[in-house]
Amino acid sequence: MANKAYTILIAALTALWGLTGCVRYDIAEPLNRFTNSEAGVADGSEITANAGTTWFADGEYENFILTGQALTEKDAEAALLFHTDGQSGYEVAFRNGPIDGTRKSGSLTSVRNLYRSLAEDGKWFDFEIAVRGHNISVAINDTTVVCYTEPEHPYRTEEHAGQLLSRGSVALRGISGNVTFRNLQMTRLRKNAVNEADTMPRIDEQNDAVIRFQQQDFPVIDYHVHLKGGLTKEMAQAMSMNYGINYGVAPNAGEGGVGRMLADDKEVYEYYNEVKDMPFLRGVQGEGRKWTATFSQEALGVFDYLFTDAMTIIDHKGRNSRIYRPEEVHYDGVTKEQYMDHLVDQTVKILTNEPADIYANPTFLPDELNEAYAQYWTDERVDRVLDVLVQYNIALEINARYKIPSLDIIRKAKARGIKFTFGTNNVDADFGKLEYCLQAVKECGLTVNDLWFPTMSVRREREVVIYNKW
Ligand SMILES: [Zn+2]
Repeated sequence: MANKAYTILIAALTALWGLTGCVRYDIAEPLNRFTNSEAGVADGSEITANAGTTWFADGEYENFILTGQALTEKDAEAALLFHTDGQSGYEVAFRNGPIDGTRKSGSLTSVRNLYRSLAEDGKWFDFEIAVRGHNISVAINDTTVVCYTEPEHPYRTEEHAGQLLSRGSVALRGISGNVTFRNLQMTRLRKNAVNEADTMPRIDEQNDAVIRFQQQDFPVIDYHVHLKGGLTKEMAQAMSMNYGINYGVAPNAGEGGVGRMLADDKEVYEYYNEVKDMPFLRGVQGEGRKWTATFSQEALGVFDYLFTDAMTIIDHKGRNSRIYRPEEVHYDGVTKEQYMDHLVDQTVKILTNEPADIYANPTFLPDELNEAYAQYWTDERVDRVLDVLVQYNIALEINARYKIPSLDIIRKAKARGIKFTFGTNNVDADFGKLEYCLQAVKECGLTVNDLWFPTMSVRREREVVIYNKW
């Protein structure tokens, strides 16, 4: 009995508190009153953020879930601010359109920038933003795209020093064009709210390279991630969000490579449907030397980009040779210099005839030659490869796993206006965070203008030439 009376007393007190304090938890309430110092008050379930205006919602919030829908015009961008006084706090970006290096919908601006949007211009889409303790999550169309846990000692540049959790207002800021929001629903969460889905360890930002690039809005994209060796798409999603690296996930289309291979157009479309709603860029790798004859350009064209490498060649005696396998590398009858010349010939042929956007695992050499990498990659040979990249607007991958090409070659490529991508070519779920690529950016002075994006793809206009005899 005592217990029951106590419960009633608590319930009565809670109700009273609810009436006097006006703070109600775990109940969705419309966020439908916004003020702007010049334009006054806007009431209602729909509000448009025009370029240059900021609207503040009523109330202050700490832990919360905010849901709603947004509609972007072409090239329009807006930000939803939270924990803000107009200057401080975090922003979530609303911008759609092709992958051109601008941050996209759902980005936690300059902390977790995203480069592929799961929404489209001219079509209402759902979003959810939640703060639970130190964790911020963002979902677009029911897919989680950001799961960021603010560490004890966050790294922030001077410009972004205010990007910290605290408590504060929610605001809508128009940046360009018109972005309209509707049906905003705010649910306050209690102080001890926890995001159960946040399972990975916090990043130590004092010793993390990626956050330094994010803070400068320098796109951090790993275009060469394979779902193999136990790496599932769910793991890749969690790792990508935790590290702050956008992943371009690519299957191998063709034969002879390591792990799952797509064999025909039908498998290409099946794979594409599996990953299209995941928050990844969607790539495909042409594998072996027959892929141009096996797949239609239409099927491979559904992906955001296509890459190939020159690690499978037809050797000087007409044998198919995977040069990453020592048992398939034969120098019989030729010197290593002659072998190297043949490898460069093959590389030029591949890049000339196979319509790839990106030359991946570039300048890779078999072990015995790799020991004298700089000696075998003479200026003349490097120029032959760079010439063909320039001629067909092919990007050069900076490969994190093999640490290739050398910084010297990257500098030469930059001087010739060649664009770059970053890629790992992982074998399993245990791989790094683009360390070599980020080092190359610093040491070679690469800027955003040196990066390639899928909007620069010209492969669909290129003719496929069947050139090797098998
Ligand atoms: Zn690969």
